[in-house]
Amino acid sequence: MATKDQHLALSSGLGLAGIAVSNFWDCGSEAMNTFKEDIIISILKPNKETAIHHYLNFFQNIEEEVDMMWKNTDLDEAYEFIFRTLEEVKLKPDLPEPNFESCEEDCGHFDCECNEIVMQWIAYVSKNLDEIDKLIKHSAFQFIFQDRNFLHNFHIELANLIEREMNYIKANYPEFVTAKNKLRRKTFPVWLKQAVFYRDKGTCAICRCDLSNLVRTQNTIHIDHIVPLELFGTNDASNMQLLCETCNTSKGARSTATSSINVPYWNL
Ligand SMILES: [Zn+2]
Ligand SMILES: [Zn+2]
Repeated sequence: MATKDQHLALSSGLGLAGIAVSNFWDCGSEAMNTFKEDIIISILKPNKETAIHHYLNFFQNIEEEVDMMWKNTDLDEAYEFIFRTLEEVKLKPDLPEPNFESCEEDCGHFDCECNEIVMQWIAYVSKNLDEIDKLIKHSAFQFIFQDRNFLHNFHIELANLIEREMNYIKANYPEFVTAKNKLRRKTFPVWLKQAVFYRDKGTCAICRCDLSNLVRTQNTIHIDHIVPLELFGTNDASNMQLLCETCNTSKGARSTATSSINVPYWNL
């Protein structure tokens, strides 16, 4: 593996991303409000731990999930879920495995050895809770970051929160706020420029012109705030898209234009 490669838990991440996106209209603002202190710290300047990561906290808690399964489903299903999740996050507990087939207590396994063994697996999950949740959230982010339309909606909602909290932000982080009570523009770190360029496949998110500059270098690359700072948008790393100079100039300080256009794999 190259030094920058990382193992991801994509199946668990995909499940979490689906839950977080489909519940956005119902409880997006509640979720943001719950984690607003963490979110505010992450959006003052581009941060690898984004507002989306904190938003995902609202939906991801492996300890609770396992507990719910243990209470509400068959023990073998709960064990199967724990086993698969741990395998995906590359944790290998040195624990005995239950043998439900050969167990004589076949109606629920509440009083047999199986239950004792599964309890050890549950304790192992609780002990490694932070590491498991962190990897699943980071994996879910990989999917959500692809969806500029969702990011647009997310950052419009986040802008409402930032507007409400501007006095708090100004009191606690005055160096990040302008005289007009908007967040101060911050420079884009290299890791962010590369991520946005890679996600948007080197093309302008609006007019789709090629910004790869492989042959001619006349097209200047612009990183744009999807929801502008002027509208209480933030410097969050997930609020950025790739634009050409023409689109960036004509977008103006009050437009939140983006597009859901992408290049499907079969069209590469
Ligand atoms: Zn049993
Ligand atoms: Zn353009």
